[in-house]
Amino acid sequence: MQLKTLPYLQNSNNSEISQTGEKLYQLISELYPICRSITGNGFRKTLNIIQKHIPLETHEIPTGTQVFDWTVPKEWNINDAYIKNSQGEKIVDFANSNLHAINYSIPVDKKVSLAELKEHLFTIPEYPGWIPYRTSYYQEMWGFCLSHNQYLQLQDEEYEVYIDSSLEPGYLSYGEYFIPGKTTDEVLISCHACHPSLCNDNLSGISIAVFLAKHLSQFTPHYSYRFIFIPGTIGSITWLAINEKNVSAIKHGLVLTCLGDSGNFTYKKSRRGDAEIDNIVSYVLSNSNQQDKVIDFFPYGYDERQYCSPGFNLPVGCLMRSPHNSFPEYHTSADDLNFVQPQYLGESFTKCISIVSILENNQAYYNKNPKCEPQLGKRGLYEADTDSQNRRLNRMAILWVLNLSDGDYTLLDIAKKSGIAFDEIKQAADVLLRYDLLTSSTENELENF
Ligand code: ZN
Repeated sequence: MQLKTLPYLQNSNNSEISQTGEKLYQLISELYPICRSITGNGFRKTLNIIQKHIPLETHEIPTGTQVFDWTVPKEWNINDAYIKNSQGEKIVDFANSNLHAINYSIPVDKKVSLAELKEHLFTIPEYPGWIPYRTSYYQEMWGFCLSHNQYLQLQDEEYEVYIDSSLEPGYLSYGEYFIPGKTTDEVLISCHACHPSLCNDNLSGISIAVFLAKHLSQFTPHYSYRFIFIPGTIGSITWLAINEKNVSAIKHGLVLTCLGDSGNFTYKKSRRGDAEIDNIVSYVLSNSNQQDKVIDFFPYGYDERQYCSPGFNLPVGCLMRSPHNSFPEYHTSADDLNFVQPQYLGESFTKCISIVSILENNQAYYNKNPKCEPQLGKRGLYEADTDSQNRRLNRMAILWVLNLSDGDYTLLDIAKKSGIAFDEIKQAADVLLRYDLLTSSTENELENF
């Protein structure tokens, strides 16, 4: 069986990156104004927009459904929220920023003193121009977030607080898109889609996942790919509870988030630490920029926490640029459409394609002539300077592939051991397959089947 080679974009040029980056950015811009939460119409609207790009299947899980130690919460929706001063002027208005209302705020409509109001206000004094992003999913309360500058202007007077929200039995929604591959072994790509107007933490992961899915859907990949767009934490817990019987098919996985800022890449390994996905992403990052970082798993962060809980221990890592909490804009109104840029999104997308390309092509082979070196000259291999696509052949790569193809070393292992780029190793393996000097274990298995 010859794997279909996905385009290997490690060396893609700047115009390709920026063209893709622009598309990624456009999707982010379209999703940005929506007030999302872990449940509700904002999340559904987000899934509907994603459906314009990929045929996402949507799921609705009723409030009260038991999912392991958790319960699917009530559904939250919001129409409007404001604070009016005694002159009737709106001094804080949800229409200007959906971060102004605490996500999951219960409804309120009353007059309050300044002292009482202050108990329900949240600001970031260190960044007085920014609005914080706050949630209260599991403790019913009402509140507003505002810039510290706005806060400092408050006078000792009576205020009208109004939040037109609802918190009622409903559903938790999520979206799933499955691309069948040649094998039933799966690659899980997961991103949270529950944050309101926040670009890097949330929308960057969504847009890259959408375009990665779009790209992969043009091929019949080796692996099957499952893309899920879920609310953070409760979404992955719900998804794992519903799909518990099928998760053993997941052989590799990535959580995508914070991929649109200017920071270097950070890869957080799966809990296993030595999964193939960990090795591949580490390899891709080590080959691009010395500043990129690979860090060990820790039980905080995004949905990898659930995938890597001990009862699942799935080989799922998390790809980011700047990690959450490491940039001051994190969970504030400054994580906006200026904070993410097409160029960085494009680079992140390219990185994902490189990772997937290696994953798709990373096989172990058998040298069909393992007793001493095969006579390459006799087969015309010394004369073959180029492969069928006219790319220059690396003869050392041929010798490395022949020597290490004993069924144990994958092409990535060979690339790492030899110091030769993965695509040259892959190219050498393709030539050796064509000259009948190499065979894949998968091929033998399929023939016997
Ligand atoms: Zn977040």
